[in-house]
Amino acid sequence: MSEYPDLHLLIGGEKLSGDGRESEDVISPMTGDAMAALPHATADDLDAALENAQKGFAEWRLAPADKREGVLREAAKLLRERAGTIADMLAREQGKPIAQAKGEVIYSAMLFEFYAGECKRTYGRTLVRPEGQRSEVRYDPVGPVAAFAPWNFPALNVARKVGGPIAAGCSVIVKPSEETPAAGLAVAQALLDAGCPPDVCQVVFGVPSDVSEHLLVSPIIRKLSFTGSTKVGKHLAKLAAEDLKRTTMELGGHAPILVFADSDIDRALDTMVPNAYRNGGQVCVSPTRFLVEEPVYERFRDGFVERVEKMVVGDPLDKASDMGPMANARGPDQMERMIGDAKDKGAECLTGGERIGNQGFFFKPTVLAEVPEEAEIMQEEPFGPVSIINRYAGEAEMIEEANRLPYGLAAYAWTKDSARRQRLARDVEAGMLGINHGSISAADAPFGGVKWSGYGHEDGAEGVMACMVTKTVHEIL
Ligand code: NAD
Repeated sequence: MSEYPDLHLLIGGEKLSGDGRESEDVISPMTGDAMAALPHATADDLDAALENAQKGFAEWRLAPADKREGVLREAAKLLRERAGTIADMLAREQGKPIAQAKGEVIYSAMLFEFYAGECKRTYGRTLVRPEGQRSEVRYDPVGPVAAFAPWNFPALNVARKVGGPIAAGCSVIVKPSEETPAAGLAVAQALLDAGCPPDVCQVVFGVPSDVSEHLLVSPIIRKLSFTGSTKVGKHLAKLAAEDLKRTTMELGGHAPILVFADSDIDRALDTMVPNAYRNGGQVCVSPTRFLVEEPVYERFRDGFVERVEKMVVGDPLDKASDMGPMANARGPDQMERMIGDAKDKGAECLTGGERIGNQGFFFKPTVLAEVPEEAEIMQEEPFGPVSIINRYAGEAEMIEEANRLPYGLAAYAWTKDSARRQRLARDVEAGMLGINHGSISAADAPFGGVKWSGYGHEDGAEGVMACMVTKTVHEIL
């Protein structure tokens, strides 16, 4: 078992800390105590990072596809070799169970492996022209990217932020969350150790609004990539618009799960219950609103509660834990507020609904039923270990409820009816839809939302194309 590491900035390949820089404590979600001090970048540090990013881009945009591919493949290999150590620090700083933490690091490696292959697949095309002429459509890297990653997937969010730009030939300055800095630093270090030029991948920390403003007003930055809340996303999109920078926004969700009477209820429960409480429900695609068709409502609800009550909540480093603490002190506060509000408005709390102990940020896996629409939790993403189970008369009402909110990230449905599956694929407003399937994320598949859940994609071929600009060259030979 490893200890939590010393922390630093990573600017031009240099590990910077101390030297009068301000710092903040990284808090253990298990205990609520400080584990390490994290240095903040000064304005000079950020300017140095910008200058390096410009130099890095000048070099990397010309690097052959083989070179970019090799770096990503080698970084993936290093992540796989280091998965145990990185998972350990990730579980300590973020609170997810160690097996999930290891899975996250392996997913990051898989993403780099997929992007490595994509380096050779960013084809342009030649247009048909008369003899003596040629027109070519080509894709060039957009330029230096400023990327901001949140705390719920400390390794994967950073891998998503840097993988696409590096495959495309961009440089990137990434700010992982200050609350979970170590795993993101380890991802960046794997890239540098794999031969990525130090100016191509840099890591900074600080007061989020100060860092983002500093980087986004700079004309050096040509693209913003953000994952986090819709509120912050809208603010950053406005900053980026000042300079018409490209943007990829992965924002909040409020995923509906449409459970029809013709579905395999046991399979739906066995798949969706663990999924709803994975990472303590702190996942943007977390199943949240279970919309259950009337005839199977009681059976689904009772089976759901039975499974939730068997879940083990405990030390994330203990292999027996299904769920650890929430990632930060805001988590249990928000759970208490939203669950209290729902109960005041008439919801039933079938299990959970309270904190566990008085140390760290533990909260019981919770199930609410018959939750009225006016409850806050029916409007805003709870981002915690709570599921809502409500009953509906049939398909039309369920689709209407699924689309009611301004969010449109993930949605899920359980049904054996193939014609209905086609209607759902057409009518449910979401960037990703899982049908009889609990997993809607894969390295080779675009990940992103519609409506207030953002725009643009990470992962898949789209994750690389999002870091490229189109240029058409018309030539007389
Ligand atoms: P938040 O919205 O303040 O922070 C979310 C993330 O954005 C954090 O990592 C933070 O460091 C970063 N951030 C905040 N302000 C920023 C700024 N001006 N510039 C750059 N980065 C900035 O609040 P929170 O309490 O961490 O989360 C609140 C809600 O955000 C959650 O309940 C959830 O709905 C949403 N969220 C979504 C995701 C996701 O994966 N889409 C991840 C984390 C949080």
